[in-house]
Amino acid sequence: MAEFENSKKRAEELRDLLNYHSHKYYVEDSPEIEDFEYDRMLRELEIIEEKFPELSTPDSPTRRVGGKADGQFEPVVHTVPMESLQDAFSYDELHDFDERVKAVYPNAVYVVEPKIDGLSVSLEYENGVFSRGSTRGDGVTGEDVSANLCTIGSIPLKLKKALPLIEVRGEVYMPRNTFTQIVEKQELNGETPFKNPRNAAAGSLRQKNPKITAERKLDIFVFNVQQIEGETLLTHKDSLDYLKTLGFKTVPQYVRCNTIEEAIAEIENIGNNRGNLPFDIDGAVIKVDEFSQRIAIGSTSKFPKWAIAFKYPPEEKETKLVDIEINVGRTGVLTPTAVLEPVLLAGTTVSRATLHNEDFIKEKGICIGDTVIVRKAGDIIPEVLSVSRHGDNLVPYSMPTVCPSCGSPVFREEGEAAIRCLNTDCPAQLLRNLIHFCSRDAMDIEGLGVSVCELLVNNSLIRTPADIYTLKAEDIESLERMGTLSANNLINAINKSKENDVSKLIFALGIRHIGQKAAKLLAARFGTLPELMKASEEDILTIDGFGGIMAKSVADYFETAENRELIDRLMASGLNMKYLQQVEDARFAGKTFVLTGTLSMFNRNEASAIIESFGGKTASSVSKKTTYVLAGEAAGSKLKKANDLGVTVITEEEFKNMIS
Ligand code: NAD
Repeated sequence: MAEFENSKKRAEELRDLLNYHSHKYYVEDSPEIEDFEYDRMLRELEIIEEKFPELSTPDSPTRRVGGKADGQFEPVVHTVPMESLQDAFSYDELHDFDERVKAVYPNAVYVVEPKIDGLSVSLEYENGVFSRGSTRGDGVTGEDVSANLCTIGSIPLKLKKALPLIEVRGEVYMPRNTFTQIVEKQELNGETPFKNPRNAAAGSLRQKNPKITAERKLDIFVFNVQQIEGETLLTHKDSLDYLKTLGFKTVPQYVRCNTIEEAIAEIENIGNNRGNLPFDIDGAVIKVDEFSQRIAIGSTSKFPKWAIAFKYPPEEKETKLVDIEINVGRTGVLTPTAVLEPVLLAGTTVSRATLHNEDFIKEKGICIGDTVIVRKAGDIIPEVLSVSRHGDNLVPYSMPTVCPSCGSPVFREEGEAAIRCLNTDCPAQLLRNLIHFCSRDAMDIEGLGVSVCELLVNNSLIRTPADIYTLKAEDIESLERMGTLSANNLINAINKSKENDVSKLIFALGIRHIGQKAAKLLAARFGTLPELMKASEEDILTIDGFGGIMAKSVADYFETAENRELIDRLMASGLNMKYLQQVEDARFAGKTFVLTGTLSMFNRNEASAIIESFGGKTASSVSKKTTYVLAGEAAGSKLKKANDLGVTVITEEEFKNMIS
């Protein structure tokens, strides 16, 4: 009885946890835990539900496939359900699978292929032409993401043979090097970086603007024929060979195996080579090759019984912690980095790994000289997991009390994990700020990357961004690795940046909590930098999407004398201080919108950005000057006021038509 009660409690707990993490993963594309941990909890719940079937609920995460579509795109009901796969974490489980299959077909042959860590899509073709593409969603209903899929170069828009109908299934993924580049850019811009390539791919494919998807350089591997007319295919391997002839990019490796031992050997082979691939895989899949046998073996409500996915555990290695280095970031945060004895991990040599923050080091009792366990989080960024053996040194590492760059005392704010150097003159911060100021999404000064910034700072030619604009070619040409041509090019690039839109300058200033999007909203709202400098916290707070912390950060920044002086100097150097609206289609010119209620097709920032991109404005309160009130669900006082004043109220559907 006690066991039943305990299991009941644990099942409820697991369901809550799994639902929470599932939402983070599928809807927000921002997981908080490793997939392996998620799978372990799911397995624990499955075991409880098997033992006590009465504890199973109709909406249990063990019964669901993927995540629900969130209404951003048109729904697509899949003609052939897009099933998930049963997992195996041990070879014993693979032998059990083999026994179940062999009980029906003693001579069954398997195909083994890598399990690509991306998101599943269906591609439909009519008479050889791409007609629709959709996400898996919950397996029954997905979302129409055709426009975004069209931006993926390896998806053929026309097949080499005009079959009346074919639907294939594939995995959209983001190559590792693209992921690394995007994350670097996000970090530089102070945005929250994607957690791993899978989430980056999912976030990129479900963009409202296909241009953004196109920039993310996604790719696809096709791994199944869902339905076909005009051709008879008998086995899985033959169907993949056939898909290649039609022009599809199929899974890179698929091998026929006559026995489960051969299949396991192939799984090991794929696993050993895992780190060398330019994309992520999270396992290998064993599938029954013959289609007629698949039909007879059948499916559960969630997955086919003729296939199983073996999941590789994240690779972990032991190595020695040689030292701990402290880096000072642009905002003064001190980050501890482990310097390790080099170790081969998931295909690359790792000699540095993150130690997160002070609390992590304390909690794990980490001392220099310890043997630690490292792994690549999401297979990309190495991290120290724990201490496996202490060395001779038994004094846990403590974070410095002064900044390693400038020697000023450091502080830890209440409720924050980060330790900060608050000295605005700190050389490490100044350098990071300069690098950010010149970067592509900021002032975009070609030729002023990390090493040239360092060179100029080390030669005392620049200290703050304003110094960049007083540089002279003569000062630069005599420097190491420079010369007359490079010096002139750099001066030209610096002069060109003076014409940038002011939103780039606002972003370049590196105001805490102000990313590219927020900088644009500030520029659009206040028109010029001097106007923004005059704005109060309350004025800034009226911008949709701005919270108290952001508004305070902006107001504080412009209240600081040093920052005002910087801007005076930039202004004196002739930098553009105006918002140059680049509107190609000004259909909303002179029109003011107020957004109210809960919008389901767009979020508020998106809707405002769309209105502004068509030359319109958004305001936070309704007046006689308001042209339209865009009212979502449960709109309240603003809707009432619009009706009282006779302002035109539009629905999201009407708005969608206006912008189409
Ligand atoms: P799954 O990823 O375990 O397996 C099914 C998927 O594999 C299919 O949808 C298919 O698209 C894909 N696949 C890739 N290559 C394939 C191939 N060659 N042949 C067949 N299929 C192939 O199951 P799932 O339902 O898609 O998602 C569950 C995954 O999501 C798990 O890995 C789980 O850990 C993860 N998840 C993680 C969190 C978290 O918080 N970290 C939360 C929810 C889910």
